Amino acid sequence: MPELPDVEVYLRALGERIVGQTLARIRVASPFVLRSFDPPLRAAEGKTVRGLERLGKRLVWALDDELFLVIHLMIAGRLKWLAPGAAVPKKLGLAAFDFPAATLLLTEASKKKRASIHLVRGRAALAEHDPGGIEPFGASLDEFAAALRRENHTLKRTLTDPHVFSGIGNAYSDEILHRARLSPVTWTSRLDDGEVARLHQATLAVLGEWLERLDRERAGGFPEKVTAFRTEMAVHGRYKLPCPTCGSPVQRIVRGESEMNYCPTCQTGGKLLADRALSRLLHGDWPKTLEEMDEMKQASGLKLRAPADPPAAEEAPKRRAKGKSERLILFAHGAGAPSTSPWMEAWVARLATLGKVVRFDYPYIAAGKKLPDPQEVLVEAHRAALAKAMLGHRGPIVLAGKSLGGRMGCQLALEAPVAALVCLGYPLVSQSGKMRDEVLVALRTPILFVQGERDALCPLDKLEAVRRRMQAPSEVHVIGDGDHSLETSKAWLKRKRLSQDAVDARALAAIAAFLDRHAR
Ligand SMILES: [Zn+2]
Repeated sequence: MPELPDVEVYLRALGERIVGQTLARIRVASPFVLRSFDPPLRAAEGKTVRGLERLGKRLVWALDDELFLVIHLMIAGRLKWLAPGAAVPKKLGLAAFDFPAATLLLTEASKKKRASIHLVRGRAALAEHDPGGIEPFGASLDEFAAALRRENHTLKRTLTDPHVFSGIGNAYSDEILHRARLSPVTWTSRLDDGEVARLHQATLAVLGEWLERLDRERAGGFPEKVTAFRTEMAVHGRYKLPCPTCGSPVQRIVRGESEMNYCPTCQTGGKLLADRALSRLLHGDWPKTLEEMDEMKQASGLKLRAPADPPAAEEAPKRRAKGKSERLILFAHGAGAPSTSPWMEAWVARLATLGKVVRFDYPYIAAGKKLPDPQEVLVEAHRAALAKAMLGHRGPIVLAGKSLGGRMGCQLALEAPVAALVCLGYPLVSQSGKMRDEVLVALRTPILFVQGERDALCPLDKLEAVRRRMQAPSEVHVIGDGDHSLETSKAWLKRKRLSQDAVDARALAAIAAFLDRHAR
């Protein structure tokens, strides 16, 4: 702590303030904070900040003359943006960086002084500070899987290992594992491909959501409340509080200075890791480090597995029959492309992490025509696909659809016993300007709208007005800058330091949370 999202937000705030500015003076108040000698720190004075970078959890300032200032905040290090010449507080203050218009203060609210400053010259010297973990935001699924499986350790240890992944610490690893519904003590070698894909998506989603949330919170200002404990977190620091997904009290395992938080229902098949299984096997001989814990578990032959099924199957005893309680998602295509289009394929892969996905083509597409069939024909085909998918199926059913497919799903939901609706870009306004709100107002089925912010077919204010008239529970996940296909512009992604993958992962996370509430 601070981890990737917090460090990124610090970087954004600093980027707005110090890039292009001259670092006039550095006042070092604590002798331990400066860990490098050559070049001397004085060499940085009078230099201009040319750019900012992040190396894992370290902040890097690129200065003139190939000089790089590396600041590692460790656990308790914080930055404060103050009036020029601000005094360095006695106990907490480590150093002050004086710019013409303001002073940046580095503090550390801990007796153990661990935060550090290094000044290095040249890229090669800078590279020595890179622990080498892959950047979770830039990593493809293959790269992510390769890093994860390079060595066999527990998931918690692997996620927080800076040599494996960059910038993930105790807090966000708890959140990521909860989102992925995986046990912190599962061995990386035991994960199947589906679980690895789920973990990849969860990593992108959790880090992306927090980055945006923290950036929104600072509202253009300098980040002030930088903490690992936040009420919006699902499990981290939430011991005994209800899990937001299932309501079970969150559990923890304390090791030395850090703790693991997890939901037994969502993540460990109901097993209490520390209090029962581990303590019995380890006879109360508690491991102090993750490494030690790994070794002790290996020595004891202890096997703690994550549930093979999603918690939906674990939760309801009446649906215990394995394989039959799985959620079914009938996924309908949009007006312009078949169920096998690349866009559909990508969304099928994402939705497959939430249940069994079944798709079909409307008759006009199957016949190779461009113009959609009349509504009755579309609904009839949708009904037939649903009937076929329902054969032998006993779990909850979700109708999902892109645009036209979502709208037909709504029509079908008026008569069919489905648990929930997911519309990816609901076409609220027709090309001719007609409002398609009637079916929404008549609905009784919970519905989630995943909507692009600049989707001309669904202005968000119009959707809000319709939602106020709806009787069915409804939720909206807005994709900033998203178009009717939920795609964002390159410029926007660059500005937000996001990838389209991360945007999609966030939408998927919203769908997962919605389905956990309404279709389990
Ligand atoms: Zn839970």
